[in-house]
Amino acid sequence: MSAIAFELPEELTALCEGLSAFLRTEVVGRHQRHADLLDSPRRLYDERGAYSPEVLALIQEVRMASARAGYYAMSAPESLGGGGLGHLAYFLAWQQVYRVCGAQYWLGHHAISHWAKGPSPVLLGLTEAFQRNHLAPLMSGEHSMCFALSEPGAGSDALAIKTRAERDGDGWRLSGSKIWTSNSPYAQYAVVFAVTDAEAAAQRKGGISAFMVPTSSPGFQVERLIHMFGHAGSDEALLHMQDVRIEPWQLVGELNKGFKISMKGVGLGRVYNTARAVGLGRWALEMAVEYTKVRSTFGKKISEYQGVTFPLADSAMGLHAAHLMGLNVCQLLDRGQPALKELSMTKAFAVEQGRNAVDRAMQTHGAMGFTNEMYLADAFVALRRANVADGTGEILRNTIVKQLLAGDTDV
Ligand SMILES: Cc1cc2nc3c(=O)[nH]c(=O)nc-3n(C[C@H](O)[C@H](O)[C@H](O)COP(=O)(O)OP(=O)(O)OC[C@H]3O[C@@H](n4cnc5c(N)ncnc54)[C@H](O)[C@@H]3O)c2cc1C
Repeated sequence: MSAIAFELPEELTALCEGLSAFLRTEVVGRHQRHADLLDSPRRLYDERGAYSPEVLALIQEVRMASARAGYYAMSAPESLGGGGLGHLAYFLAWQQVYRVCGAQYWLGHHAISHWAKGPSPVLLGLTEAFQRNHLAPLMSGEHSMCFALSEPGAGSDALAIKTRAERDGDGWRLSGSKIWTSNSPYAQYAVVFAVTDAEAAAQRKGGISAFMVPTSSPGFQVERLIHMFGHAGSDEALLHMQDVRIEPWQLVGELNKGFKISMKGVGLGRVYNTARAVGLGRWALEMAVEYTKVRSTFGKKISEYQGVTFPLADSAMGLHAAHLMGLNVCQLLDRGQPALKELSMTKAFAVEQGRNAVDRAMQTHGAMGFTNEMYLADAFVALRRANVADGTGEILRNTIVKQLLAGDTDV
């Protein structure tokens, strides 16, 4: 029986079923075969805090297996050879990943091209020359990429970026620093956002362009891996670029109109984080419910104590609402509506509900909830971080209020 009355298109139901089977074989199976490596935080990373070559090879294997099965590039534009599926498919697929894999089988995160790490609508404006010479390994999952927008002095206020691409013959010279760039220590390409028209950028009227930069380019440097809360190693890094030569084939989309591309990416990130929150929240809730049926204290199953079960009812209410909001906003986006207010409400609400559900599941498990073997702490950290990545809770509320004050009070 389903808790959801929305009629999902048959092809999307089939996609989720197929994906589920893929995840069990290719992700859960791989984790089981390589448990010595993947379950050991000490073996995951080298002394710098970067994934070890064995781990990177497994991540690449998952990407490539998924590409062969037709899942990896499902949301990439058809013109690039992707599946061209919309927001609803992206939401459902990511939710499936996190529900099936939870936080334990974390290779699942690589089973679908994350909008910032692999082929996605962000790449719609790739030049023909890039497509001809560089696209195939990105589509097949052999290569990956990263999305370099944030800078030490520009996070929420992304229009304040200082990285510059100065004209140099028919191309540019790129200089500046980027921070928090996920997957950058491992990626072959970075989508770098830079000021190309200082005057327009100062007036916040365009002037920012996007470039596809091979991370092997002379002058491109991963300066430092940043160890984030809860991890012995890192996915995020501080980047430095000094006079990196950019050729015309590296421009993505139109010159000086790159900021729109960045916002397209961030919008997909909001859909992704909503799906991740609902998926991880449901995974945690299901574990907590099961645990109440087997754990006894004072001669009774803990499922008999309302102090234990009422928080789980709260989780169910919050996750159900977040799930419905996710389904709804994706349908608005797929109809071509900007859904600015609705996407902001959905992402802000969902990550809070997902995090609360994980937090309550930890409490339900007592001390067990804090052990690494339950992976609840990993899920908590992921969702705590999600309240900052792709629009902080405060920035999303700013957007909601702006829309309300402009007269868009429809809820
Ligand atoms: C796990 C993770 C992965 C990330 N990956 C990437 C990536 O791959 N690429 C990339 O480019 N960036 C990435 N980021 C960066 C992310 O986009 C920024 O962290 C985010 O935009 C917030 O910027 P900031 O950290 O500089 O915080 P700031 O913008 O400095 O904000 C600090 C605090 O002030 C609040 N605040 C700021 N302005 C306002 C306002 N006007 N009204 C109310 N409150 C306000 C914020 O909500 C926040 O609480 C990642 C971040 C995280 C946590």
